[in-house]
Amino acid sequence: MQRTPTQRWDTTSLNLPRGRAYDPWEHAEQLGIEVVVRRLRTANGRYFPEYGQILISDKLRVGRQRLVLSHEVGHAALLHPDDRPKHEKQADQFAARNLICPDELADLYEWCPDERRIVAELGVTTTLFRAYVLSQAA
Ligand SMILES: [Zn+2]
Repeated sequence: MQRTPTQRWDTTSLNLPRGRAYDPWEHAEQLGIEVVVRRLRTANGRYFPEYGQILISDKLRVGRQRLVLSHEVGHAALLHPDDRPKHEKQADQFAARNLICPDELADLYEWCPDERRIVAELGVTTTLFRAYVLSQAA
C-alpha cells in the first residue's frame, strides 16, 4: 500500500478535539495508518514506518491502549524512521498535547496542587503529563 505522509505538528488542521475527547484511532485513520491489535511479546505498541502500520498489544486495557496508540500516532505523524530517545520524547509530547486539553488543565491547577491527582483527573500517565509541561515550557 502506497501512502504519502505529511508532517503533522499542527493537529488542529485535522479537526480532532483535544483532551478526553481525543480519539487516536480516528487520528491514525486520518493519517492513513493501519492499527492492528494483537499479541506483542516485548512492547505495548510499535510503529512500522515501512508498512504504515501500528501494532498495539491486546493485553492492555482499553484506556491504556488509547494512551499507547496516541504515542505511536505521534511517531507516524512526525515521520519517525526509528525510536531513538529523541523521537520517544517527541512522540510523548505529541501524544500529551492531544490527550491534554489546556483549558481543563488550567481549571485543575485552580483547585488541585497535587501532580498525582492532576494526572489522574486528566486520565494520562505521569510521563505524558511531564512531557506536556515540558512542551509548554519549550
Ligand atoms: Zn515510541
